[in-house]
Amino acid sequence: MSSIDEKVEPIYKAVLDRNPGEIEFHQAVREVLESLGPVLVKHPEFADHRIIERICEPERQIIFRVPWVDDKNVVQINRGFRVEFNSALGPYKGGLRFHPSVYLGIIKFLGFEQIFKNALTGLPIGGGKGGSDFDPKGKSDAEVMRFCQSFMTELYRHLGEYTDVPAGDIGVGGREIGYMFGQYKRITNRWEAGVLTGKGLDWGGSLVRTEATGYGATFFVDEMLKVRNESFDGKTCIVSGSGNVSIYTMEKIAQLGGKTVACSDSNGYIYDEKGIDLDLVKQLKEVERRRIKNYVDVYKHAKYISKGNIWEVPCQVAMPSATQNEINGKDAEMLVKNGCIAVGEGANMPTTPEGIKVFLDAKIAYGPGKAANAGGVATSALEMQQNASRDSWSFEYTEDRLRQIMRNIHKTCYETAEEYGAPGNYVTGANISAFIKVAQAMVAFGVI
Ligand code: GLU
Repeated sequence: MSSIDEKVEPIYKAVLDRNPGEIEFHQAVREVLESLGPVLVKHPEFADHRIIERICEPERQIIFRVPWVDDKNVVQINRGFRVEFNSALGPYKGGLRFHPSVYLGIIKFLGFEQIFKNALTGLPIGGGKGGSDFDPKGKSDAEVMRFCQSFMTELYRHLGEYTDVPAGDIGVGGREIGYMFGQYKRITNRWEAGVLTGKGLDWGGSLVRTEATGYGATFFVDEMLKVRNESFDGKTCIVSGSGNVSIYTMEKIAQLGGKTVACSDSNGYIYDEKGIDLDLVKQLKEVERRRIKNYVDVYKHAKYISKGNIWEVPCQVAMPSATQNEINGKDAEMLVKNGCIAVGEGANMPTTPEGIKVFLDAKIAYGPGKAANAGGVATSALEMQQNASRDSWSFEYTEDRLRQIMRNIHKTCYETAEEYGAPGNYVTGANISAFIKVAQAMVAFGVI
């Protein structure tokens, strides 16, 4: 791990003391704070206003009971969360995650990252995140609906197009957003499109939102490759996961001439040397909601490696798009040794601090999640823009906007890294440029 500046160290210690046991939150905070020493030298006013201390403390945290009845008529109880972290740049914005691993520490790490990611988009959105320890896996549609309705029955009072605007994340896609939008509309008696993003196309959704996180991450990597006079053309790629982010990353890689040979789910990974057949993955995952191992039932030449480590597959470009901490130091070493030249994070915080150090020391192109995967939330902000003007844009126009936003994020991170004496380090560039933007707004608002 790198070190934290001595002026920032006591702030990090206080975060550890105030938030015991929330290890993912500690990790996310540490990664940003490690970049901030030089910022305080150029901007002493941020220390006077205690901006770092304030940014590490969520503006509001909501924890609530979510009772629902399963198909066997048994009452189930889950826990719901919404952490409204920072509204300096706009209404709280960030997804909802439904996964059994969810607890306050996960939601806080995601909410904290979201502040900076959203700032990088250049659009007027603050940072927040929510979710539940509910596990949608194996649940019927009716159970998912009852859960979503109960979840929204508490959450609705905290939301609004100018207040807090959730979207999807792991375990929350179009189906769940539909049930939650329906319940919000019913309780409030308001058809308020801008209260949720990731909506269906017939009821206020935006074209490209489904594809946006994966497409955006691929555009970001494309920009990093261009700086090195490289491109996706002919490159062998690995994309972990097989959810929404992973699927549309693979799609854009193929459009740019690359070949993805492996993807995964939490049980194992598939390897197809001819290139993954995306239509089949979409059918299995999006339509049939089955496991990735079913791929080899159709393609006998492909391999399914149960409990295998996808990072052992040699590649030139790796795009972790499953979940946090999926690449550790050893995995990173293996990737570099096998000839990987670029890593773009579709997932949030998928690389451990040890892994990040390996990538930075090897000087490969490493695009951290808060920059590389900002295309999802950026397109959510474009969805809000369309909702506010009661308009809807074409696929081509919306994709162009997304491409331009990703180019700008890349440019900002690249130039800020240079300015702060860390050329090529997108971690430093992303953390510093995003922090300064949020900090300046907070200074302008006074002590609130
Ligand atoms: N969950 C996504 C993220 O991690 C998208 C959030 C949104 O669209 O609000 O950025």
